Amino acid sequence: MADKIKFLGTAGARFVMVKQLRSSAGTWITLDDKNLLLDPGPGTLVRCAKSRPPLDPTWLDAIILSHQHIDHANDVNIMIEAMTTGGYSKRGALYAPKSALEDDPIVLTYVRDYLNGVLILKEGTSHRLGNVEISTPVRHVHPVETYGVVFKTPKYTLSFIVDTRFFPDLIKKYKKSDLLVINVVRHDGKGGKRLDVDHLNLEDVKKVVAGISPKQAILTHFGYTMVRSKPWELAAEVQEETGVRTIAASDGTEFDLQKGLG
Ligand SMILES: [Zn+2]
Repeated sequence: MADKIKFLGTAGARFVMVKQLRSSAGTWITLDDKNLLLDPGPGTLVRCAKSRPPLDPTWLDAIILSHQHIDHANDVNIMIEAMTTGGYSKRGALYAPKSALEDDPIVLTYVRDYLNGVLILKEGTSHRLGNVEISTPVRHVHPVETYGVVFKTPKYTLSFIVDTRFFPDLIKKYKKSDLLVINVVRHDGKGGKRLDVDHLNLEDVKKVVAGISPKQAILTHFGYTMVRSKPWELAAEVQEETGVRTIAASDGTEFDLQKGLG
């Protein structure tokens, strides 16, 4: 299997999700013969089936939740069902913060039994899945317990900076990334609605991309102000200002790691 990332959806935050201006499905990651699904938001199962060629959830080795917000975790139960063929074959693992399992549990208890393991994500810890190291270097500043995820293989280090308010340690903690996928909910920092302040805006993202300086940056998880402002033009602006190759993901974008990171 070629190492790749497929963005089944690129919607961020409430409005774009509830109106389905973009799909809110998760991100499928194939790395070193493992298939991982990050943040299965609403529509993930449907998007897997409708993908060209289709993505079969029984190929998944793990599902990872960065946090329990519904745009990241709505389809977690149905995806566990699908990964385990309705619970008939006990397999696969779920990685999630404790908060998503206990405080405001989004994962039904009966589907947890279908899994081979439920692993708790904590700040500064790592787990191993075959040759893939899955680590969560820092807790993000977001209303619920949230972690960005670093996937490391002998070939690449991929960082996914999910929902968070900007803080300088973001740059330090994700510093050694070949690829940076970053959630950009807001276009500007002005007049932020109360619910949206714990997200990155485009100026924050420029700082982070410049500071980390990966080989490639991919913007995703767009709120309305981003969708409206043509993300592909904003990605070109990030590239221009930071000198880092940057693209904006669209629904269905597939990024080949071998070709893209060389
Ligand atoms: Zn969130």
